[in-house]
Amino acid sequence: MDRTYPAEIGKNATIWCKTSYPIFSRSCVMVAPGNETLNLDLRTGKVRDISSATSERYEAYSNKQFQMCAIKIHSVKVNDLGQWECKILSLGYPPRVGFINLLDNEMRYVKDVRLPRHVLPDSYIITLVPYLMEGNYTVDGLVEINAHIADAPNSCDNKCIILHSKEAAIDIRHMHVQMGGFKLVINSVAYDKDRSFLILYLEEALVPGKDLRKEIAFLGKVQDEMTGFYRSSYFDFALNQTKVVGSTQFQSIHAREAFPCFDEPDMKATFKVILGRQGNMITLSNMPKEKIDIVLGTEVDVYETSVKMSTYLLSFIICEFKSLYLQTDPFFPLRFNVWAQEDKLPQLKHAANIGKKAIPFFEDMFDLKYPLAKIDLVAIPDFKYGAMENWGILSYRDKFLFYDKTDSSELNKLEISMVVCHEIAHQWFGNLVTMRWWNDLWLNEGFGTYMAYVAVNSISPETKLLEQIAFIETKDIFVLDAVKSAKPLSAEVKNPEFEGMQPQLAMYKGCLLIRMMENFLTPEVFRQGLRNYFKGDSFLWVIPISYKSILENLSDTTVNFWLTESAATLPARNKELLFFNAGRMGYYRVSYSIELWDRVIENFSKLPNVVRAQLVDDALFLSRTNSMFYSQTFKLLNNLRTETDYVVLSAAENGLKFLMNMLVDDRRYDTFLDFIKTLVEKVYYEVRDSTSVRYQDVVKRSLVMKWACSLNINDCIARAEYMFKIWKQTEKNYELSVSPDDKEWVYCYGLKFGRSERDWDFIWKRTQETKNIREKSALYEALACTDSISLLDKYLDISIDPNSTIRKQDKRYVYSAIGKNNVNGAVRMLDWLDENWEQILKYYEGNFPYNAKFMIEPYSENACTQERFDKLNQFYNKNKAELGTSGQIVEEVLDKIKANLRWRKISYEDLFRDLERVVKETTAGNEVTTNSNEIDGIVVEEGPSDNEGSGTGNTETPTGNEESATGNGGSATGNDGSETGNEGLEAGNEVSGTDNEESGSGDDESETGIEGLATGNDGSETDNVGSETNNEGLATGNEGSGTDSEGSETGNEESETGNEGSATGNEESPTGNERSATGNDRSETDNQGSSTGNEGSGSNNDGSSTDNQGSSTDYEEQEVTTDKEVTEEETSDTEVTTDKEDLTDTEVTTNGGRKSGRRNSRRWRSMIHYLMRNGYPYQEAKAIVRDENRLKKILDNRF
Ligand SMILES: [Zn+2]
Repeated sequence: MDRTYPAEIGKNATIWCKTSYPIFSRSCVMVAPGNETLNLDLRTGKVRDISSATSERYEAYSNKQFQMCAIKIHSVKVNDLGQWECKILSLGYPPRVGFINLLDNEMRYVKDVRLPRHVLPDSYIITLVPYLMEGNYTVDGLVEINAHIADAPNSCDNKCIILHSKEAAIDIRHMHVQMGGFKLVINSVAYDKDRSFLILYLEEALVPGKDLRKEIAFLGKVQDEMTGFYRSSYFDFALNQTKVVGSTQFQSIHAREAFPCFDEPDMKATFKVILGRQGNMITLSNMPKEKIDIVLGTEVDVYETSVKMSTYLLSFIICEFKSLYLQTDPFFPLRFNVWAQEDKLPQLKHAANIGKKAIPFFEDMFDLKYPLAKIDLVAIPDFKYGAMENWGILSYRDKFLFYDKTDSSELNKLEISMVVCHEIAHQWFGNLVTMRWWNDLWLNEGFGTYMAYVAVNSISPETKLLEQIAFIETKDIFVLDAVKSAKPLSAEVKNPEFEGMQPQLAMYKGCLLIRMMENFLTPEVFRQGLRNYFKGDSFLWVIPISYKSILENLSDTTVNFWLTESAATLPARNKELLFFNAGRMGYYRVSYSIELWDRVIENFSKLPNVVRAQLVDDALFLSRTNSMFYSQTFKLLNNLRTETDYVVLSAAENGLKFLMNMLVDDRRYDTFLDFIKTLVEKVYYEVRDSTSVRYQDVVKRSLVMKWACSLNINDCIARAEYMFKIWKQTEKNYELSVSPDDKEWVYCYGLKFGRSERDWDFIWKRTQETKNIREKSALYEALACTDSISLLDKYLDISIDPNSTIRKQDKRYVYSAIGKNNVNGAVRMLDWLDENWEQILKYYEGNFPYNAKFMIEPYSENACTQERFDKLNQFYNKNKAELGTSGQIVEEVLDKIKANLRWRKISYEDLFRDLERVVKETTAGNEVTTNSNEIDGIVVEEGPSDNEGSGTGNTETPTGNEESATGNGGSATGNDGSETGNEGLEAGNEVSGTDNEESGSGDDESETGIEGLATGNDGSETDNVGSETNNEGLATGNEGSGTDSEGSETGNEESETGNEGSATGNEESPTGNERSATGNDRSETDNQGSSTGNEGSGSNNDGSSTDNQGSSTDYEEQEVTTDKEVTEEETSDTEVTTDKEDLTDTEVTTNGGRKSGRRNSRRWRSMIHYLMRNGYPYQEAKAIVRDENRLKKILDNRF
């Protein structure tokens, strides 16, 4: 059956019924939603009601062969919407019935899609004889289902059997039903198109408690849509032939495309699979092979009866693959195989090694043996998703199994490990214990994702994955989760198209929630509780809060208390600086008061890397949602100038993407870009020539190079162009001419800044030639980097060319890349989609919503104007119906744009004001780090040789280089050779001297400190001197600040960073004293934290308080004069906010020592300042701040 979709009130609509045999005229009957029966006269076109009166509203027609009848409804009314029934009568055949819903745009989908529970399957025997040959991609199928009858509600008085079968894919030949051994008469057979139901109407009622046996013979299709039982192909270079692979993808609702079944996850049964094969083919299924048999003259493989499982986990594969057999360990009796086309076998080793280690790892972790006797991992040539956890037969997109050292980057390798472990983890989570319905998919995916981290971290400890999990997995999740269209994790699944679910959100958020659970339960209890947990224990939604003093061990992530209300008060602990959500174990973000942020910023460099990453990530997100001032965030970011840790850098890069996107089209973009460049440059020059093969170094370099090129750092682009040229000139094995870890940025920026069309065509040509899948995907990605709109159009057109060489499974990468790599890509893609709508729709057919999703999703990324919103909105309204499940994506994208618009309205001006101020303050006397051209003059060899010498001083010496480079830049730009370097060092002294003079007026401390070191000697000697004298420096500092004695304890910790500069300075130059003063400032500030009202800090305070408020407030004078007041009245307000909607107002307040209802004056002034920035005159702002209620109202409304 089929119908006009969607129907529109007032317009015409048609409903078709089809059959495989001729219909007698006047024997096609339709029943309208209001139960009116209509007889269709196919010869005259008249439609009559029961009283034989002709109805003018309808028209009947048929095709020439009379294998179809149709009713045309003129001017659809509301009453026409709903379920229609179509009945076809043919002599000698049972009547054929169909149900279909006429739906309008509002209804969109049929919502009640669940099977009744009065017939429950116990076991299946499935015999499939597929023909995988051109012109006959079909399957002869027979399914025998043993079921039992239960006393459960149904809509047919127990006189029907309802199961799933997709009419378009399965043509039923004959059916038999027996109850308790006796044959039942089937009165009619019906299809419900919207629910994919096959309904057998029976003469007799079913009796609860009795057994039921069904036998259905059918002819199936082996299509190439990547779901159900489908075909894909690869080219066998040895035989010079294209080979076909038959394989399955049944999750979520596609088993019904392969055979009639009860296709819901909780309707578990055992399966015996019998598979026919031809020629050189082999077959694989979930279970080990039992024997070979002959059925109807064809050789078949008979598989053992499976364990009890869900239909979506069933799989069969028919192919000519070979396997890498890995049963080498007598104590590892499991048969473990990895399968692929023969020439790819050597590339399976990495996946095999990881997989083989993962199984005992999980067995041990859960104290539960893997229940099957074998496990196969199979590389499928065309695969819709990343991989699929079919029980005992895991299928993978080829690139997630193939690893070749020469062509795969470290991150590719990691990705493979992760995907392999994820699917293996599902053998327990998902397969053994399964969610009852798809609404709890997050549980499956969350566990799979989290367990993959745990396993890979254990198998490949060098990846330090658990450190990064909270940043990798939060990437866009908080954002995705915060937009209006976000669904709760356990969302009701309303329509039969489960692709519309938010799989990403399920995976990542689920993963983080499970990690949070493990942390608060402790790993032991967590493991212990896993099995109980799956038995359906639900948990209360409360937030586990952890907090530590920053002087404590911050890697301790013990939960301190549970936040069950919207606010809680903590007992004060000596006014220490508290740090919340240790290890980012909880699924929430933390906002501190301005003052606490200041102190966090001061102490930044002393904090562990995960904490630093967390702060950067939180600050960028909080200022994005207007919960934190950008001035504060930029001050925090300033610390990145000396950052070298991968986790922190990647959190920063990711967090800054939002701003990059928002500002990319802005006239002031360069100001912003210049600032970000200054943060990255140091680490860039440090890693660009790194040859280290240590995992952390490799991934860091790869991240920094990509980042630097995206920031247009000239040196990076020059390198990309140079290496791109070499790659182009390489004829043979050109796949090897660029390191796999560099391909992404080299190809992309090589093309972007290259000779446009010629280079583009050249790359395209190579995508055709290369047999290397990694090279190919790097090239696909690069092709989207062009700035030329006409080339983008060309690329998009190629993607829907019927002869396109881009594989079906890879098209989504093309669309994602265009959206991601090109400023105008997403807009152009939407126009292209709109302009070529019919053609694209036709080209993708059933896979249209899936691909459309990738075309539309990137649109929100840099959309922050009303115009951009309207454009998509118009597109949406125009094409709503045909977008199908992608409509949901469009709604999400529209929501994201709304959030962007809001951001722009509220934060844009503030951002630039704050940014300009921070930049001005940091660059005063400090051109050193901001001028890339001068830095380009650095002698490449210099850095590494210094580094070697300095040993542990790695982080300091490069700064020395920068110093020297500035010297070069100042006197003679771009000198080469080590000699110049030395000169530079000298010159550097001068420069740093200048800096020192200015450091009193608010220079950045950490930099000053390090510059101080640079002023001194180089090499390891310096370090020794440095660390030796550190103590002295500290001592001096303490003396200098007079009453600072209490601070000495805290100060000792300080000495690691802050005082290095001061120490050296003290010994070597008078300016150094100023630095030691700076050092004092730091320890002094900390003293404030641990002891109230440090009067002694008075004289030094000027410096530090100027520093502190710097960009956050204009009232420097006020600040200084009231400082005493601040220290006296100091209260620390710490705010813990969560992203959970019902808990957004959560606030944890720490009262410092005494109970104080008075506002912290610094915060008070910031509020006034905030109000002034939002247009309130000073006097009024002051009045508002005094009026709690009024202030609250304004603050509440700001979002
Ligand atoms: Zn999964």
